[in-house]
Amino acid sequence: MLKYRAGLKNLPTYDVGEADWKIKLNANEFNMNLPAVVEDRVMGRLSRLAFNRYPGIEVESLKEQLAAAYNVQMDNILIANGSSEILEKVFFCLGGRNRKIVYPQPSFSMYKIYADLSGSISVPFDLNDDYTLDAEKFVDTVNINKAHLAVICAPNNPTGTAVPLRDIEYIAQNINCAFIVDEAYVEFADESAMQILSKYPHMIVARTFSKAYGLAAARVGYAIADSKVTTMLGKVFMPYHVNSLSAAVADIVYQMRHEYESRISMIKAERQRVNDELVKIAGVKVYPSKTNFILIKYDRAQQLNEYLYNIGIGVRSFGNAPRLDNCIRITIGLREENDAWIKAVRDFIVNN
Ligand SMILES: *Cc1c(COP(=O)(O)O)cnc(C)c1O
Repeated sequence: MLKYRAGLKNLPTYDVGEADWKIKLNANEFNMNLPAVVEDRVMGRLSRLAFNRYPGIEVESLKEQLAAAYNVQMDNILIANGSSEILEKVFFCLGGRNRKIVYPQPSFSMYKIYADLSGSISVPFDLNDDYTLDAEKFVDTVNINKAHLAVICAPNNPTGTAVPLRDIEYIAQNINCAFIVDEAYVEFADESAMQILSKYPHMIVARTFSKAYGLAAARVGYAIADSKVTTMLGKVFMPYHVNSLSAAVADIVYQMRHEYESRISMIKAERQRVNDELVKIAGVKVYPSKTNFILIKYDRAQQLNEYLYNIGIGVRSFGNAPRLDNCIRITIGLREENDAWIKAVRDFIVNN
């Protein structure tokens, strides 16, 4: 019998239950590949890449661009394998034995797993019934528990709920521990913690290319923080953890980010349209979203999920996850995709 690390046996396996979907709306991906002009540049760059060399200039070039865009120094930025790697390292560096990490519930399911992996004590903080975050109570929870790390997801996955910037700033002003704001969906929202980051050296903003920039395949994300923080976090990454191919692609995508503006506007317009259609369906509760997905609550969510599964539409059902009973999260897709799944939801409800 192999003797694994304590706690490993009870750790869940990350399993999103993929199938051969006709319409894939379960992972908040962008349902279009690279814009053609971006693809041309990407292929050209990859054909000239030094495959024999460890990564270097591609990562530095991306960092330089990000620093210029956010008006920070290069040493304020850490590039990583998706914001997942940022989150894992932040939990590892600030957590540990007998240290508490406060994160919202319901929110991104990986926070609990990173807390467990880092050997920290999880302190889930209950969101309000409408999934808004009570900033005062959050601050109290962080301070009463003497937490070492506070986490928020703004806007929040899987509820789509915005966290107003004034609330984020209130939290930053009233806690002393590290404070990470996961902005995986910020491009679909109206405000960003980046607007106040320079005032708060205990604050870290995490972002990703996987969602709004449709680059989930490349696994590129980044953190922006005070250079003292990035120096400490930087110690725990593997050498050359971000590969040249992914960094080169993200570098081009970021250079050409204006090519994505119309796509992001399209998703926001579709989100509004989807919301307006859903609220007309009796029995379906719709949560207002500032992301590229929408959460609905419906009495027979399990059956609705099965129905969608059987006709090849992949959505994210939450089963009995804490505070998410009978909830389904649907990624906002292209117009025809949205028409198809809304029709399916309507058909199911009318006929059942
Ligand atoms: C998708 C997602 C991430 C991780 O994205 P990466 O692909 O690892 O960059 C992080 N946080 C939240 C809330 C997400 O939904």
